Amino acid sequence: MKIHTLGTGHGNSTFSRFNSSTLYECEDGKLYLIDAGAPVEALIRRKGFEIKNVRAAFVTHMHDDHAGGLTGLMKQIIKYPAGREFPFTLHLPEANAIPALQGWFLAVHENAHNPLLEYKATDDGDVYEDENIKVSAIRTAHLRTKGRTEGDPCSFAYVLYFKRENLTVLHTGDLCRDFSDFPKIAMEQHFDVCLCEATHYKPEDSTAYFMKSKFDRLIFIHIGDRWHNLVRDRWNVERGEAALLETCKDFPYPVAIAHDGDTFWF
Ligand SMILES: [Zn+2]
Ligand SMILES: [Zn+2]
Repeated sequence: MKIHTLGTGHGNSTFSRFNSSTLYECEDGKLYLIDAGAPVEALIRRKGFEIKNVRAAFVTHMHDDHAGGLTGLMKQIIKYPAGREFPFTLHLPEANAIPALQGWFLAVHENAHNPLLEYKATDDGDVYEDENIKVSAIRTAHLRTKGRTEGDPCSFAYVLYFKRENLTVLHTGDLCRDFSDFPKIAMEQHFDVCLCEATHYKPEDSTAYFMKSKFDRLIFIHIGDRWHNLVRDRWNVERGEAALLETCKDFPYPVAIAHDGDTFWF
């Protein structure tokens, strides 16, 4: 499997990073997308892939930097069905997001009920399985600590973890500010790789969790401003990436910081 980090930015696109989207490529050419921040369909093409080979997409939560590219992606799926050999399954984190998205398609004169599209609402537990991967989800708090309540549509995100043959992957959505919703499963089960967001928490809060996690490799995505290597920006963090890696120097596995367009082989 190859993991393509298409967009690696945080809530706002930045000088060097678009919003969150990661593409998982299986040996048979099928593609699986986790998060669909804009401009995801353009970034899929830019990597040389065809949209018709995207089998399923999983949105960790409905914040715009994770879902804002869905309309462009799905327009392509609806408009250009030629050559598509399997339906496209879209997993949204909230049931009420499904009619909202379908309403957008109607507004832009596309067919929301195209037979190529399957809509599913994610819930805790197993959410998807086909011949390539089995995906499960764990709900995390994300912004609930800001006083939002359980039922608030902005209050949670999902961590997704999946298996393909011998490969196990843990992929976080956005986490909460003290990192306390980092899933326990990271410390209980072995994962070949973890893709973890790096915006919403401080290293002093996350280090103890990471030290205990059973990863072979950690890749940071959703990179916060302070960890950017910008040279002409207000953050003035020319050595931002080095500073983030320095906080990880004692981790018992290698750590990488993803950039837009990077590919990781497994
Ligand atoms: Zn985000
Ligand atoms: Zn978020």
